[in-house]
Amino acid sequence: MQKGKLLYEGKAKRIFETDDEGVLWAEFKDSATAFDGGKKGTIEGKGIYNAAISANLFAKLERAGIATHFLEQVNERSLLVRRLKMFPVEIVMRNKIAGSLARRFALERGTALKKPVLEYYLKNDALHDPMMNRDHVLVLGYMTEAKLRRVEEEAAKVNRVLRNYMRKRGLELVDFKLEFGERGRRIYLGDEISPDTCRIWDAATREVFDKDRFRFDLGEVESHYAELVRRLAA
Ligand code: C5P
Repeated sequence: MQKGKLLYEGKAKRIFETDDEGVLWAEFKDSATAFDGGKKGTIEGKGIYNAAISANLFAKLERAGIATHFLEQVNERSLLVRRLKMFPVEIVMRNKIAGSLARRFALERGTALKKPVLEYYLKNDALHDPMMNRDHVLVLGYMTEAKLRRVEEEAAKVNRVLRNYMRKRGLELVDFKLEFGERGRRIYLGDEISPDTCRIWDAATREVFDKDRFRFDLGEVESHYAELVRRLAA
């Protein structure tokens, strides 16, 4: 498979066309951003770690019966993925209180939620990804009821599978963000699943293994990403 024209460059990935119309080449970058682009930096080797983690977790989800865009890993920082028409909606799933949920409601970080909490955000940098409720998603026409329901079911399943997988490796999946898209009549999980898009703690010590190390200058960012690759592959 040949890497073709650059189609899109985002904050963490470059997306290229390939010689197959239905297949894209996703190259993971080392650049990191946080706080709505307010903080920028580089995490040395992040592209390699996130490509490995995404490939591993997408393959795991596929084996559990979840349709993802992942096809194969072509080099240490690149994956081949299905070309999808993405929904402009980010789905955030939370198992424990952290991040913006802790901040907005002044709640204690680390408290377990009685059941997973689902949130919807409009994917729009200019508007700073505003949070939406279910009615906004449907009535403003970002997704149909049938497709949203399907995505919600898939997101719940992703949560069960990944939580279980991580728990067995002594890790806690605190929260994460998913993006879905469609191709023909099928819906697939797209984008990436990595410590850039998830919060992952050591289950016993609550040591942070995700982008919060970069956001809050916790230090040893690279070594924690590398350690997460090893622990998730075990
Ligand atoms: O910041 P907040 O607590 O709302 O983030 C919830 C989860 O969604 C975190 O795991 C974060 O990394 C992820 N997220 C993301 N991309 C965004 C916003 C949040 O991956 N644009």
